[in-house]
Amino acid sequence: MEDSKFSLESKLKAMNPEEREKVVEEIKKKAIQDCIFCKILRGEIPAKKVFESEDVLSFLDINPVNPGHTLVIPKKHYLFITQIPDGELSALMSVVKKIAGVVLDATKAEGITISQLNGKAAGQIVPHVHFHIIPRYENDKMDNHWPTQKLDDEQFNNIQRKIIELVKKLYEPKENTEEKVEDEDEEYEFKPRLP
Ligand code: AMP
Ligand code: ZN
Repeated sequence: MEDSKFSLESKLKAMNPEEREKVVEEIKKKAIQDCIFCKILRGEIPAKKVFESEDVLSFLDINPVNPGHTLVIPKKHYLFITQIPDGELSALMSVVKKIAGVVLDATKAEGITISQLNGKAAGQIVPHVHFHIIPRYENDKMDNHWPTQKLDDEQFNNIQRKIIELVKKLYEPKENTEEKVEDEDEEYEFKPRLP
């Protein structure tokens, strides 16, 4: 599966921009057609809705960890959180915060886990950005711990350096032309746009 994705990516990179745009548009259209959350948004399958605005929908997870486990999704289909424009994400997060508060009150839960998975490797099953709001209780069955690794100082420094380099690119004022900005945007966003 990952292999076919890689070969798709290399095929896309080999295309001219017009061809590539057309193919990517078709892939996106198909992804939206098949997406279970887009089907809910189109009214093709039912959901236990708890909140709806122009841009956001919230409904109960069909397989809850605990009663009140709620999902919050943007109405626009995005695969990764990194694809959502800042303004849209801020509006989405504001709903996540409010629904989390409401779910806490409604369930009288002792805690709340907010989880958002990006990519199959991270456990994402539904390829449409969503936040899980999960009411939590002492001694409930959800695992709070993930395995950790020991890194030596060089390993920490290497990854720190790589991240800092890219963070700088994002935040430092762009010196040159608009062309450069476009190139960087495309490079940065190209990969995660594939559904
Ligand atoms: P994940 O992509 O791993 O973050 O999880 C997707 C979540 O969507 C799971 O917790 C599913 O139980 C939930 N889910 C899948 N289909 C539906 C549906 N039709 N209605 C409500 N929740 C759903
Ligand atoms: Zn979708």
